[in-house]
Amino acid sequence: MAERPYIVGNWKMNGTRAMLSEARAIDRAAQRYMKVEVAVAPPYTLIHAVHKEAEQIGIGAQDCHSGAEGAHTGDINASMVADAGAKFVILGHSERRQDHAETDELINAKIESALEAGLRVILCCGESLETRDAGEAESFVLGQLRAALPIFQDPADRLTIAYEPIWAIGTGRTATVEDIAAMHRAIRALLDETFGEDVSAKVRILYGGSVKPDNAREILAVPEVGGALVGGASLSAENFLGIVVGAS
Ligand code: PEP
Repeated sequence: MAERPYIVGNWKMNGTRAMLSEARAIDRAAQRYMKVEVAVAPPYTLIHAVHKEAEQIGIGAQDCHSGAEGAHTGDINASMVADAGAKFVILGHSERRQDHAETDELINAKIESALEAGLRVILCCGESLETRDAGEAESFVLGQLRAALPIFQDPADRLTIAYEPIWAIGTGRTATVEDIAAMHRAIRALLDETFGEDVSAKVRILYGGSVKPDNAREILAVPEVGGALVGGASLSAENFLGIVVGAS
């Protein structure tokens, strides 16, 4: 596990203002686990409200547009989420890739614009079950990263990678600790090669995919794992905090 594990809740398309009580509970409890970096990414509509409630936890967005302001009805760009109080943005989530046909090239442009706006970035990658069964998981994931990683800006300590096998997201299935460790080692080797070992060492690699209070400790004990990106279990403060405890 990383020196300071990073546990990030992705609320996806869930949450009205009634969820602010969960954010308050997470924030209060996080003060007892200062060795763990805790963050949540609510939907756009709650970023500002959660930011105002939170003293301890990081607040992020789940996506942003790659461009500056302009005629893009319904879109939100990186400086707008930063203005609302977000400090980071999740990019390249498999649900964005699937639901919105996001390509690695678009994700790369979003990363560049997020870094430009002063945001930290959590870049998601992960293979489908067909790709894993075909024995191509590693080459697929490294290909996603090669195409999306920022090359014009030094991400220094503003980049986090989240390895999330698609078949483990929201399914209750998790990858084995051996598979997680092997993929994380391959990602680390790519980061070393791309940014050099000093910069790479600052980049945490999270695991995501059905992380829950009852499996968090085992997954987070894998030495290569720097934390977790948590979907379903982050919607309840009790479950999410169970994962934070597993990281502490
Ligand atoms: C996710 O979507 O990032 C995720 C990991 O979801 P879940 O924890 O529900 O599998």
